[in-house]
Amino acid sequence: MSKIKVIPCSGIGKVLGLLARESVLMVTQEKCPNESETLCLAHVVTGDDEVVAKIKGQPCITMDGCPKYCAKKSVEAAGGEVDHSYKVPDFMKPHRGEEHGTGTYLTADGWKFAEELSDILAKTVIEMQEEVR
Ligand code: SF4
Repeated sequence: MSKIKVIPCSGIGKVLGLLARESVLMVTQEKCPNESETLCLAHVVTGDDEVVAKIKGQPCITMDGCPKYCAKKSVEAAGGEVDHSYKVPDFMKPHRGEEHGTGTYLTADGWKFAEELSDILAKTVIEMQEEVR
């Protein structure tokens, strides 16, 4: 089976976007590099042939920074099958009152939160891989 595509929103200028991106990089580069990969959302949006061919009809996971769901909507518009759509604010409750950083850097609490988000993504990647075996 091809690798599960895990795609974050771009969320430039917001810590929620940075949390989304860092959590996706952790899962695709460190936790599940053989089972997952990420793609640049800008290439998805602009319809890059190679990227669209990679996601069309393929199982995808998205991680968005807010309810505008830019990653989810863009992947679906390009023909990707979004089996799991997450957004960072849904996991914020136990982290209320913490400082996570800014759009350009994460604090220690921010990195801990990104790690937690990446664990959720990694669990989803493994479950999706097992479903198709
Ligand atoms: S989902 Fe929200 S944070 Fe992410 S790119 Fe869209 S508007 Fe920005």
